[in-house]
Amino acid sequence: MKRIDEILCGVKTTAIAGHVRPDGDCTGSCMGLYLYLKENYPQIQVDVYLEEVRPEYDHISKIDQAKCICDEEKKYDLLIILDASSKDRVGVAASLLDTAAKTVCIDHHVTNLGYCMVNHVSDKASSSCEVLFDLLDEEKISSDCAAALYTGIVTDTGVFQYSCTSPHTMRVAAKLMEMGIPFSKIIDRAFFQKTYEQNQLMGRTLMESIMILDKRCIIGIVRQRELDFYGLTPGDMDGIVNQLKNTKGVHVALFLYELKPQVFKVSMRSDELVDVSSIAAVYGGGGHVRAAGCTMTGSPYDVINNISLYIEKQLLSHEGKNA
Ligand code: AMP
Ligand code: MN
Ligand code: MN
Repeated sequence: MKRIDEILCGVKTTAIAGHVRPDGDCTGSCMGLYLYLKENYPQIQVDVYLEEVRPEYDHISKIDQAKCICDEEKKYDLLIILDASSKDRVGVAASLLDTAAKTVCIDHHVTNLGYCMVNHVSDKASSSCEVLFDLLDEEKISSDCAAALYTGIVTDTGVFQYSCTSPHTMRVAAKLMEMGIPFSKIIDRAFFQKTYEQNQLMGRTLMESIMILDKRCIIGIVRQRELDFYGLTPGDMDGIVNQLKNTKGVHVALFLYELKPQVFKVSMRSDELVDVSSIAAVYGGGGHVRAAGCTMTGSPYDVINNISLYIEKQLLSHEGKNA
């Protein structure tokens, strides 16, 4: 018996939910599970909650059925949360954590401490889609479900580039390809394609970026007024931090964007020298060793001064020096 059958045993109503500002892995895993349940368990009534669906993920079947407002009155037998590392990251459906009879978390964040009744967390997995795939019965995965799961794997691995990509990831992706998905189109839509305005903001951020710590750390900053000027939202800036990190010689990229005056979302990317998840955790955030985030208050300079101390410490310890 596949573990999904154990999870669903005796369940009549299920809610599926992801994290705030859903990315490709969150959207792909929530929708992949939704499609799988719809197609194979017609006796179970299932709802999927996603805060806002980004246009990059429009190719996912039935994405228009995702609910962005939670029915708080509704009592579900089961709540399955995907790709959210902590309670405070759960998006629109957070209130269901207190009312659902059973809660299950499917995730791959190293900072996930297990906040549900049952936790399937594998920090070695590339994505929550990969963890989910391993819980499902391969024979029952349709090409629509496969396309959703492939979307999450492609986006969380940077198209199979990041170190979270394992031989197992490639085997899972190969199996999904064999299910007849339009993989080139998915990769282009979900990862590479940007609007003209997104590219303009990326170009501007790179042009105005600064280097610190002997050019080993690069920083990009976007203020609210710039987002407003281009008519963009935070979700439109996916990819900027990775492009910053592509700079030769850089070990850490920091990308700050203003959520409101004196409040910044900080995205961090690193290579093998620096563990950014531990730095994000100091400021109440989390993530992975080489990709993490947190929200900080103060001016950009306060944020940079605070975080750069931790980065410098780790870089120095690699050189055998103490900070
Ligand atoms: P981002 O920089 O937003 O692309 O996020 C990189 C990784 O860190 C993702 O796996 C996120 O789930 C995680 N992450 C980002 N922000 C936070 C936060 N405030 N708290 C916990 N995890 C976060
Ligand atoms: Mn995610
Ligand atoms: Mn993920």
